[in-house]
Amino acid sequence: VPVDELITSLCATVPDYPKPGITFKDLTPVFADGTAFRAVVDALVEPFKGQFDAVAGVEARGFLLAAAAAYATGTGVVTVRKAGKLPREVYSEDYALEYGNATLELHTTDLARGSRVLILDDVLATGGTLGAAARLFERCGVHVSGVGVVMELGELRGRSALAGHRVRSLLRL
Ligand code: IMP
Repeated sequence: VPVDELITSLCATVPDYPKPGITFKDLTPVFADGTAFRAVVDALVEPFKGQFDAVAGVEARGFLLAAAAAYATGTGVVTVRKAGKLPREVYSEDYALEYGNATLELHTTDLARGSRVLILDDVLATGGTLGAAARLFERCGVHVSGVGVVMELGELRGRSALAGHRVRSLLRL
C-alpha cells in the first residue's frame, strides 16, 4: 500500500480542536500502526539518504520521527525544544502562532559547524515552526539538508516559509 494511502486511511480528523473553527489532523493512529510508522519513516529519509549527519525532531511529535529515522540511518538525533527546556546555552527563535508567539530553542553546540541535519515534524501548516527550527541550525553553522513532514496542510503556504529548503511531505491536504 502506498504511504500516502496508509496516512489517509489512518489519520483522524478532529473538528473544532484546539479551537472552534480549526480542524485538527491527528496522526497518532499512523504512529501507532507498525506498518504505517515504518513506511512513513522510510519515506521521509529516502530522498535525503547520505546527505545528513543527524536528524532533528521538533517537540514533541517530531521526536518520534527523528529518533526512528536516526536509528534507521545510523545518524545522531537532536531535539529542537520549546522555550526553557534545555539546560545549556541555547539559540532561541520566535515564530508566530495563530494567536501570539512561541519560541523554539536548540543547544548551540549539539551539532558541529559544517555538519548536516535533516529536520522532521508531523505536520507543516504555516511553516512558522519549521522555519524557526531551520534558522536555529543555520545560526549554529549547520547545513539543513532537508525538511520532512508526514502531512502538509494548504497550498504551499508552509513551503513559502521554508524557501530555499528542500521539503518532503508525504501527503498534501
Ligand atoms: P505551523 O508552524 O503553522 O506550520 O504549524 C506546525 C506545527 O503545529 C507542528 O509542530 C505541528 O505539530 C502543529 N500542527 C499544526 N496544525 C496541526 C494539525 O492539524 N495536526 C497536528 N499538528 C498540527
